[in-house]
Amino acid sequence: MNERCAVCNYKFEKEPGYFIGSLYVSYGLAVLEMILLFIPTYIFFSFEVIFAVLISALVLLSFFNFRYARIIWIYIFQY
Ligand SMILES: [Zn+2]
Repeated sequence: MNERCAVCNYKFEKEPGYFIGSLYVSYGLAVLEMILLFIPTYIFFSFEVIFAVLISALVLLSFFNFRYARIIWIYIFQY
């Protein structure tokens, strides 16, 4: 992750461990995604398929969650 924004020179990590709290946001995003994926797969598929779909989605969406959790965290403490 860059130390500062290339456009507005915003310093992202204001103090050591600033983004530790974004883990809670990431957890919330993952839970939300798993619930949203579980409902349609539960209707049509067996347990093994549901498990495979949820684990695959969890791994693939972790890249998305990592970035968006930090963005949301920055916005929470913007002022
Ligand atoms: Zn910026």
